Amino acid sequence: MELNALEKSLMAAMEEFEIIDCHEHLGPEKNRLAAEVDVFTLFAHYTRGDLSVAGMSETVYQSLFNRDIPLSRRWEIFAPFWKQIRWGSYARAALLAAEKFYGASDINENTYQAISEAMRAANTPGIYERVLKDACKIRTSLTQCGSTDLGTPLLTPVMPLISGEVESWNSLTHPAFEPEAQVRFLDDYLDAVRRYVMRVKSEGAVGLKMMSNPYESPDRSEAMSAFERLRSGAESRLPSPNPLRDYIVDRIIDFAASQDMVVAVHTGYWGDFRTLDPLHMIPILQRHPKARFDIYHLGYPWVREALMLGKGFPNVWLNLCWTHIISQRFVVAALDEAIDLIPMNKLLAFGGDYGLPVEKVYGHLVMAREDIARVLALRIAEGQMTETQALSLAHQWFWENPKELYRLDV
Ligand SMILES: [Zn+2]
Repeated sequence: MELNALEKSLMAAMEEFEIIDCHEHLGPEKNRLAAEVDVFTLFAHYTRGDLSVAGMSETVYQSLFNRDIPLSRRWEIFAPFWKQIRWGSYARAALLAAEKFYGASDINENTYQAISEAMRAANTPGIYERVLKDACKIRTSLTQCGSTDLGTPLLTPVMPLISGEVESWNSLTHPAFEPEAQVRFLDDYLDAVRRYVMRVKSEGAVGLKMMSNPYESPDRSEAMSAFERLRSGAESRLPSPNPLRDYIVDRIIDFAASQDMVVAVHTGYWGDFRTLDPLHMIPILQRHPKARFDIYHLGYPWVREALMLGKGFPNVWLNLCWTHIISQRFVVAALDEAIDLIPMNKLLAFGGDYGLPVEKVYGHLVMAREDIARVLALRIAEGQMTETQALSLAHQWFWENPKELYRLDV
């Protein structure tokens, strides 16, 4: 249903907010400038999954980005699949971006050429400022690209909690985050991890990211014997999960808490999402009452489970990053329920979750505002809150809560 007058009024008010974008994969702007871009850049991210499910093979998908093939031929390959995925929430962010930045009211056989030309012309220094700051009013985007060297206050880094793996002797003795480390004992590895956390913190990182995989209770002696099995060669590779990883993760979370860094957690949907149930986090939440956990994506499809983490644990925040492009309908229902359940200081409204196609951050943000407007308008219509109170909540979710959670100096 088209937005009603009240929803439109809320949207207009929210468009004036400065916001904190709570999760991206944007790299330094120079990476984007170095990339060849055309209309298919708008399909270089999550829509890939929808194209694959619609029947596009990996080879055909890769050919969309082969600039040796004429654009018109690539469009012919793409068009039948586009027809199947264009109504999804992933596609909508691309459509909104094409309209806002490249003046195209649709992406189709009549517009793909002009969009491609306009994208090439716009791929110049300042594109992040034009998209993130000017079009979105984003003050900073919390981004995970594996680097803290981002070159602009528009980007604030969040780094991996475990960088690399711990399953082989080589990965332990030459950790990805500090290849020159001297690792002879388990505590040497833990010291190296602590140096890594201190280093990225000093370089501006505000959080460390992990996944809600199943973890066993940490046990130092079991971790030490797994370490010893790798050292002695009795085992060349630990299975996953294993007690060494579980112990190391536990120690890093403890250290992150002592350093006042947020632990960001991917929950739900991705690949074989059975391994990403948000409920896997409960023992960890209980063991680390002083750590602050930013629970991503509302655990889709375990939405109620994720909401219950926010309901039951003072150390949990719920972050609606990525959610509005998974399904707007699900977010509207979940956010409405979240207002019933969760103290308002624990919700974060938005994170675009994009890498190369920075323009889609804008598309996603429009969708987030729509979802929030629908939920708040309902509360206003029911006489539960005034428009002023509703907008104060939206502002809290877009600005105050992430600023406070991540201790951002903006
Ligand atoms: Zn992400």
